[in-house]
Amino acid sequence: MANKEIPYKIYLEESEMPKQWYNVRADMKNKPAPLLNPGTLQPMTFEELRHVFCDELVKQELNDTDAYIDIPDEIRKFYKMYRPSPLVRAYCLEEKLQTPAKIYYKFEGNNTSGSHKLNSAIAQAYYAKQQGLKGVTTETGAGQWGTALSMACSYFDLDCQVYMVKVSYEQKPFRREVMRTYGAKVTPSPSEFTEVGKKILREHPGTTGSLGCAISEAVEAATNQEGYRYVLGSVLSQVLLHQTVIGLETKAALDKYDIVPDVIIGCAGGGSNLGGLISPFMGEVLRGEKNYQFIAVEPASCPSLTRGKFVYDFCDTGKVCPLSKMYTLGSGFIPSANHAGGLRYHGMSSILSQLYDDGFIEARSVEQTAVFQAAEQFARVEGILPAPESSHAIRVAIDEAMKCKETGEEKTIVFGLTGTGYFDMVAYEKFHNGEMSDYIPSDADLQAGFDGIPKFPGNEI
Ligand SMILES: *Cc1c(COP(=O)(O)O)cnc(C)c1O
Repeated sequence: MANKEIPYKIYLEESEMPKQWYNVRADMKNKPAPLLNPGTLQPMTFEELRHVFCDELVKQELNDTDAYIDIPDEIRKFYKMYRPSPLVRAYCLEEKLQTPAKIYYKFEGNNTSGSHKLNSAIAQAYYAKQQGLKGVTTETGAGQWGTALSMACSYFDLDCQVYMVKVSYEQKPFRREVMRTYGAKVTPSPSEFTEVGKKILREHPGTTGSLGCAISEAVEAATNQEGYRYVLGSVLSQVLLHQTVIGLETKAALDKYDIVPDVIIGCAGGGSNLGGLISPFMGEVLRGEKNYQFIAVEPASCPSLTRGKFVYDFCDTGKVCPLSKMYTLGSGFIPSANHAGGLRYHGMSSILSQLYDDGFIEARSVEQTAVFQAAEQFARVEGILPAPESSHAIRVAIDEAMKCKETGEEKTIVFGLTGTGYFDMVAYEKFHNGEMSDYIPSDADLQAGFDGIPKFPGNEI
């Protein structure tokens, strides 16, 4: 097989799609720290967490011992609508760059939501349905997560209530209408439907909203309605677990052609796609079987891994969720308004944070104009218009390929292409008009965020 010609796209058969998710925590010597109850500072128990999340998802959240968790048939059936996703050999990009490197990308944009988020949305909707719930609530900024969740809920006939940051609701009508097409109730936040929304509207009339406020509204809506739970699209270990379908398929496709990657690259917002992509490979490293270089790419404007602190912090601006030990910029950190490319989350998955702290992962931060240059270069040769988030990974993949050109190394580079950018054309427009700037927060800006991190014995910065 070693000399077998590698096709432009490696497709797996449906029967080769993973039957189990891989839980990398089982192979970690240093487990991620447990979620803490912000009131008692004790680890969150199953009983406490089940008021917020579905029972089965709480079990997955707390499970750091089982390496494999079965993917229920109903979820696999849904996955088959858009999976297995292709692993693409970027022959055209390699040629354009004149690099000896071999570049592959795993493309997750082949579904209407346009990103990998559907992999977890369908799992979370399934477990909510299994538990006999009526519906779920969530928040969305630009709308990728809300779109994925609305698709998943419509499949299982669950009510889906999305609190969408008001400014996005008004300025980005397209994803909003996709959500409504799938039957979701989309409410601009802050709204009159929740106490927290009313309070914010009283105190700040005319506010255009924020993600933190939308989270607080979604959580209140879930706890105030019988038969509802709140769901999250990233950061949590359960979400990362569902996203391992990406890495397992990638590994199966590479194994088919005896391809061994040297470098694996992904963009990191809350860490779910990167964690999902690298998990099976990381497992081999943790078990001492193989060695790979892993690179997490984040925006220079929201540098949680490269400049954040590894401490317990709130997962949300509203300070209603449990405390998680992670690399964080502080839950009050607000990335610059001119930052267009997503990945604005202040914290990072606790699994990835621990692996990064233990030296298994590298992190790089990149500036947004350089990200859009890479996006455009990629679109022109590979034919896919990438999401700005995904383009962070493209940037570093191109940088690594150009290093190979200098050294003559024939490295195999794999990166995650998480989604398409059709709904991000305003950002592309800014880039084309030369109106996009690079903003890097000063140490003083970051300090303001760090000041908001909760202080208790053992949680010193
Ligand atoms: C949400 C999103 C991301 C970032 O989220 P992670 O949890 O870090 O994976 C990346 N790419 C796209 C296209 C997204 O929609």
